[in-house]
Amino acid sequence: MSGSTIIPWVVGNWKMNPIQSDATQLIQQLINLLAQSPIEANACHIGVAPTSIALDRTFQALNAAPRAIYTVAQDISRFAGMGAYTGEVSAELLVDSQIQYVLIGHSERRDLLGDSVEILKAKLHNALQAGMTVIYCVGESLEQREQGLAEQVVLQQICDIASVVNTEQWLKQIVIAYEPIWAIGTGKTASPQDAQAMHAKIREGLSQITAHGAQIALLYGGSVKPENAVELAACPDINGALVGGASLNAQSFYQIAQAFAQSKQ
Ligand code: PEP
Repeated sequence: MSGSTIIPWVVGNWKMNPIQSDATQLIQQLINLLAQSPIEANACHIGVAPTSIALDRTFQALNAAPRAIYTVAQDISRFAGMGAYTGEVSAELLVDSQIQYVLIGHSERRDLLGDSVEILKAKLHNALQAGMTVIYCVGESLEQREQGLAEQVVLQQICDIASVVNTEQWLKQIVIAYEPIWAIGTGKTASPQDAQAMHAKIREGLSQITAHGAQIALLYGGSVKPENAVELAACPDINGALVGGASLNAQSFYQIAQAFAQSKQ
């Protein structure tokens, strides 16, 4: 089913980058580009996910933008509220700092930082309870794809969270990002056909879980750049992009947002 009525999302995941002065410059460049050639707010949601130390600064700087640019946390604590959890930042503390968006389930957190399904569910529950919008990441490894398990793995990752998301939250607080692990930071992108096929499967799977399956934004992530954004954006079930490397260049990131905004109008 086509998701073409969904407003696309283009979100930059800065990961553990960049230093403060470069981040300030990057934000200013993005603001300038959007001031020179505006992308209407209802044509594309735009967000950036800086490091946790830069969240507040980024939020303040983006307030000067001519349109909304969301500040997105890259992660959240599995523990709610406040308490003796050294090093952690809870959903409530993020919301208290006006951060309303968060990535959960990025493959780097699943594979390198020990985020198990149980931990991800706790994080998701806390974020949703605090009223945040979650970009929930799914994706298969190269090995799983080569074994013909890609669909099964991805659909299982969606099913994993079904018990912690209610009907209204699916509609208002969930965005899904499909990021094949073999395409993240490698320069290899899934072909638009393969990405669309997986997105269609995800939408089909979502529609079995929630009545809102057709309205949930499905982002693609994995070496998205201006050179492949137009083709990816043309796919009916690709409603945006989660962008790593290319989001560290304001011009590239802007062009990706422009590609999605234009193709979905
Ligand atoms: C990511 O880490 O979410 C990502 C998609 O990275 P890249 O665009 O660099 O592949």
